[in-house]
Amino acid sequence: MDPFPEVPFTDDGLTMKSTEPARDPDTHVYTKFFMSHCCYDAIPTSSKLVIFDTTLQVKKAFFALVSNGVRAAPLWDNTQQCFVGMLTITDFINILHRYYKSPMVQIYELEEHKIETWREVYLQYSVNSLISITPESSLFDAIYSLLKNKIHRLPVIDPESGNVLHILTHKRILKFLHIFGSMIPKPRFLQKRIQDVEIGTFKRIATVQETATVYEALSVFVERRVSALPVVNEQGKVVALYSRFDVINLAAQKSYNNLNMTMREVIEGRSCCIEGVLKCYPHETLETIIDRIAEAEVHRLVLVDEQDMVRGIISLSDLLQALVLTPAGIDALFS
Ligand code: ADP
Ligand code: ADP
Ligand code: AMP
Repeated sequence: MDPFPEVPFTDDGLTMKSTEPARDPDTHVYTKFFMSHCCYDAIPTSSKLVIFDTTLQVKKAFFALVSNGVRAAPLWDNTQQCFVGMLTITDFINILHRYYKSPMVQIYELEEHKIETWREVYLQYSVNSLISITPESSLFDAIYSLLKNKIHRLPVIDPESGNVLHILTHKRILKFLHIFGSMIPKPRFLQKRIQDVEIGTFKRIATVQETATVYEALSVFVERRVSALPVVNEQGKVVALYSRFDVINLAAQKSYNNLNMTMREVIEGRSCCIEGVLKCYPHETLETIIDRIAEAEVHRLVLVDEQDMVRGIISLSDLLQALVLTPAGIDALFS
């Protein structure tokens, strides 16, 4: 399927609004870069891939994510003989949030449900088929699919064998740019300050108080569908970051039966996480921000003022939208 039916193609193969010729050649540097590289180029030579059969119990599946150190797994339906979806930490969050009652009551659905049972309940409300990409598709198409479908895991499937070759993420795509993008001339707009380019979210930032419970944090994840929450103290200063990824620690530590713990307790008990909060300031340049986010291998930076008050979030989705899709006249993130 053509993902850009209304967007005409120019002679150089670059999609853009027909009425807006490129004034500055720098504008399309990243769009062209990602259009000229395919998904296969961004696949590492070796990486771990875990696949779950849909008849596996959900609890065992989340434990298997933890013990294998992976964040998501494609789901194989043996009856249909094909991949039917993904299991991610967001699914773990949704199960906990939906069925948790109190520390005294075991979450029956987590203990007993098979993945297929959970999917029957959940898929009435969300994406209900696997979104994938072929190795020959461009990385531009991969970025479009990740942002348009608001997902963070895009399996690359070989159309001939039907095998999953890799699971692409925003992080992997940015890493690819960071390694190979050094060969292309640096666009001048990278020297602009973040406060001038307005890349990111600056209004209605979803945060959580350090005195809030884990259950309250999970509620924000479910209701706002954000990938991480800056944790703030009573003065509103950011003191930590709690991402969806960190929720898998509840499975690792088998503490998912008590979601009444405070964020402060949970953060202190995190086994492996980044020390402190990775932040940025409005006066910093786009280049500094891209370098920091790529080197730290995180999905976002928290934009703060001099007092450490949260002013915004700059996520990989925002960067890829602004650097790659916007120049092509495509708004996948906010449409
Ligand atoms: P996370 O950030 O926790 O890894 P995602 O944002 O990727 O999770 O997932 C959001 C929801 O979309 C989850 O229910 C997940 O199962 C589903 N999902 C993720 N990737 C895909 C995909 N490629 N195809 C279909 N559904 C997906
Ligand atoms: P994913 O690879 O699933 O996108 P994230 O980047 O959201 O994962 O999170 C991976 C780890 O990095 C988590 O422990 C999270 O708390 C931490 N982390 C992510 N962003 C930040 C940040 N801006 N500051 C501090 N820690 C962060
Ligand atoms: P992400 O899910 O992080 O890839 O980001 C998708 C969009 O949500 C981006 O525009 C982010 O800036 C925005 N976003 C991420 N986290 C938050 C948050 N805590 N509050 C408000 N917006 C957010």
